[in-house]
Amino acid sequence: MTILTAVSEFVEERIVNRRPSVALQIGTHLPMWFIDQVKSSRFQSVIRYAAEKSPFYRRKFQELGIDPRRVKTPSDLRDFFTASEDLRSNPIEEFLCGAPQIAFETTGTTSARNKRVFFGMQEMESMARYGAIALMHLGLTASDRVVSAFDHSFWVSGPLAREITRLVGCLHVEAGKIDPGEFYARAADYQFNVILAEPSWLLRVSEIAKSRGTWPMKLLLVGGENMTEQTRRYIEDVWQVDMIMEYGQTESFGAIGVECHQKDGYHLNELNFLFEIDQPDGDGYGELVYTTLTRKVMPLIRYRAADMTRLIDAPCPCGLPMRRIAKIRSRKDEMIVCGMGNISPWIFETTLRGVNGISPDWQIRVTRPDHKDHVEFQLELTNGEDPSLVSDSIRQSLRSQFSDFWKNYEMGLYELDFKFGAPGTLRQGRKLLRLVDLRHGLVDSR
Ligand SMILES: [Zn+2]
Repeated sequence: MTILTAVSEFVEERIVNRRPSVALQIGTHLPMWFIDQVKSSRFQSVIRYAAEKSPFYRRKFQELGIDPRRVKTPSDLRDFFTASEDLRSNPIEEFLCGAPQIAFETTGTTSARNKRVFFGMQEMESMARYGAIALMHLGLTASDRVVSAFDHSFWVSGPLAREITRLVGCLHVEAGKIDPGEFYARAADYQFNVILAEPSWLLRVSEIAKSRGTWPMKLLLVGGENMTEQTRRYIEDVWQVDMIMEYGQTESFGAIGVECHQKDGYHLNELNFLFEIDQPDGDGYGELVYTTLTRKVMPLIRYRAADMTRLIDAPCPCGLPMRRIAKIRSRKDEMIVCGMGNISPWIFETTLRGVNGISPDWQIRVTRPDHKDHVEFQLELTNGEDPSLVSDSIRQSLRSQFSDFWKNYEMGLYELDFKFGAPGTLRQGRKLLRLVDLRHGLVDSR
């Protein structure tokens, strides 16, 4: 370990890790060379650690002839990446390098099987500390009153919000993802001035607040899905306050990037992750790839996030030195995140199975004619079946097999539409795209 690395580790461990308010002051003055030094040192350490402790990484490095002791930068790993499929197709124990204390799941994209990701409580505290620093940078203080409305079932966001607010020292009430109308009625009594939630759910609360009245708000923070700038402006107009977005995944243990008040990209958690953009196009957009730099239980090396974005190199006017990524442009795989939830073709294959009177060709289109997502079933009628009977049957199938998606429908987070055509009208080429995202404005045009 060089003296520089030792100093870096000392500063991070002894000062940054102690008090979020002190860490924020230091964080805004951290020089880029310091951040790069910490990243480089930690990257080399995690490669050696994973090769030693994880049967999966040890095997992969051996197969590819990679000597972990010689790996200095990501390019030394050549074309090795960890894909989400690796987490499903290998026994999860092969990734574990330490005793797990807490686990969360990600919803399936190409299959019904969820990915399981394991962590230690110290990793929870570390991620929460960075979350607390980001929220304090946005103005959160110990005198604020925060309510969070995340679904707690196997999901990382709720427990993380609890830990973050504990570190900030503010009031925190966990509403859970309850009916927006009920939330509105109960939240008004507390006069919460900060709401943490998913954007489509917050949109519904905001629609209610627009007609029934608002109360003074300091900050709205959303995560879990993407959102158009049009919808952001609608929500901000209702509450007369900034709505800030965060970006993360279960695999990354929640937010790895949080916007500042500039709302121009997510400031990255660069001391705990090393980020790369794989195969960037002419505009710099490619797949986000990250390596966890400090995790001991289940480190991930060059993990493919499957989200398309670009790195923003220009310094941010807010003063934070941490680099930013642009708003996510699209998913690499076919999963679409919308008001219904995280939806993939297999969900609709399951829903439509056994529904009479339709051809095997169908397509789901996600549109957003106004503020709200519409999930539109494009179907071909056979045998002259009554369209209303078909749509009733599909609703029934969805309700009985996917209670979470149905719950979001009943809460008014999205609309269901049905369009019917004659057999043979949908398929234009050899391959019929099953799931199409037709929402405009989710793309960052800057
Ligand atoms: Zn900024």
